[in-house]
Amino acid sequence: MEFPKEIENIIRKLEGCGFEGYVVGGCVRDILMGKEPKDFDIATNARPEEVSKIFKKSFCDNNFGTVTVFTGSREEKTKEVQITTYRTEENYKDQRHPESVTFVGNIKEDLQRRDFTINAVAVSLDGEINDPFGGQKDLEKKIIRTVGNPKERFCEDALRMMRAVRFSCSLNFSVEEKTEKAIEENAHLLENISSERIRDEFVKIIMTPRAAEGVESLRKLNLLERFLPEILEGYKVPQNKHHIYDCYEHSIYSLKYAAKKNFGMHVRMAALLHDVGKPRVKEGEGEVATFHNHEIVGAKITRSILKRLNFKKEDREKIILLVRYHLFYYNVGEVSESSVRRLLRKVGKENMNELLEVRMADRIGSGVPKAEPYRLRHMRYLIEKVSQDAISSSMLKISGNEVMEILGVPPGPVVGDVLNILLSGVINNPEENESNILRKQVEEMKSKKEEEIKEMAKRAKTEISQTETKRDEMTKKRYWVS
Ligand code: ATP
Ligand code: MG
Repeated sequence: MEFPKEIENIIRKLEGCGFEGYVVGGCVRDILMGKEPKDFDIATNARPEEVSKIFKKSFCDNNFGTVTVFTGSREEKTKEVQITTYRTEENYKDQRHPESVTFVGNIKEDLQRRDFTINAVAVSLDGEINDPFGGQKDLEKKIIRTVGNPKERFCEDALRMMRAVRFSCSLNFSVEEKTEKAIEENAHLLENISSERIRDEFVKIIMTPRAAEGVESLRKLNLLERFLPEILEGYKVPQNKHHIYDCYEHSIYSLKYAAKKNFGMHVRMAALLHDVGKPRVKEGEGEVATFHNHEIVGAKITRSILKRLNFKKEDREKIILLVRYHLFYYNVGEVSESSVRRLLRKVGKENMNELLEVRMADRIGSGVPKAEPYRLRHMRYLIEKVSQDAISSSMLKISGNEVMEILGVPPGPVVGDVLNILLSGVINNPEENESNILRKQVEEMKSKKEEEIKEMAKRAKTEISQTETKRDEMTKKRYWVS
């Protein structure tokens, strides 16, 4: 086994000072599988303060005995190397944080506290492999198995149950029978885990190529109900004659396509959640069931899910937006340019590509054979075509000052009202966005009473904010939603 020279140097330095140093954890697993490791972890019997003394450019970042060494390497994966003192984690009072760490004298004891056999292999510089729990054999058999009794290990730290699913997805391994059974029986322990840790593991799962299979395992192992019960509301809830899959299956297939296409996190989350509102708004049964406003209800449910899981604000807003507008209308020949402008105004040009990706995932996730490249291409063309058109009052070729000057009024709400009236016209007819045309329109408003302008502005605002959604599949009616 060969290691980068930075890793060799660190271990030689430790050995030179009379300590041991082993490469451990995920990177050993990756190397044994013939994969490029993404970072390197070193375990040592030197205490954190001794490690800090040996490596001047280092940083001791927690109470758990981990020292990060800055190697000066230009390569991302060897820039920072974590050196952790052999330790056990004791007194798991709340299955959350180890109460204390106890440093131990040998590598075997350190390997014993690690989660899975495949993560509990250590290698020395001269190639000596320490594998007390059969990690290499499990790598060959492609199984995830806890080090020691699974129930005990999950009681210590319930997040390991999600980690088992994550590794089974990222490595395409199966979870060993006893380990799997222990997860099924102890899934409730997840309630002791902070939402941030759950979120991080969940995101890692959906970012693997086997995202859909991962969510399905989470469901089968009773974990999904613990942190994402909303998605299970659609389980075995049939749709209507336009759908071959039930609501839950459809979400899974949409996510599967998003993963296959290597779409980003926001799109994958939105693909999974886009129809989460359906079960709550379902009306009627069988072939003619309807799901009116499911995108609005779905966006609300998505908001509460993402809040609960402590997603960052930017992530939340993006995913909610994608869920909220996933039904945008885009039939060639029927979608008007002004409706595309209104959609752009609501969604933002920077989010349109992801919105189209969600729609593709939605469509393929329905079991239809094609993602409709033609219709989507046409929509892209329309977006590009109208993207320079005015969609906000700041893009109008007239300013608030000019409006005040023409009307002879001081600053006040009427100025904004007039700009909204103008904008509503310009969204319908972009060629009207010319200084002289707009000035003339304002001139004409001089004769109107303030009340009248207010009324017009109200109507204009409603119109501006409407977006056209997919036709109702049953009645063929088109819907406009604010
Ligand atoms: P990745 O390639 O995704 O980073 P990894 O195996 O390196 O996978 P990390 O989360 O970086 O996973 O953890 C590094 C090592 O620390 C693991 O290989 C495992 O030995 C140990 N470990 C991490 N988290 C836990 C845990 N919750 N319980 C027990 N051991 C853990
Ligand atoms: Mg790692």
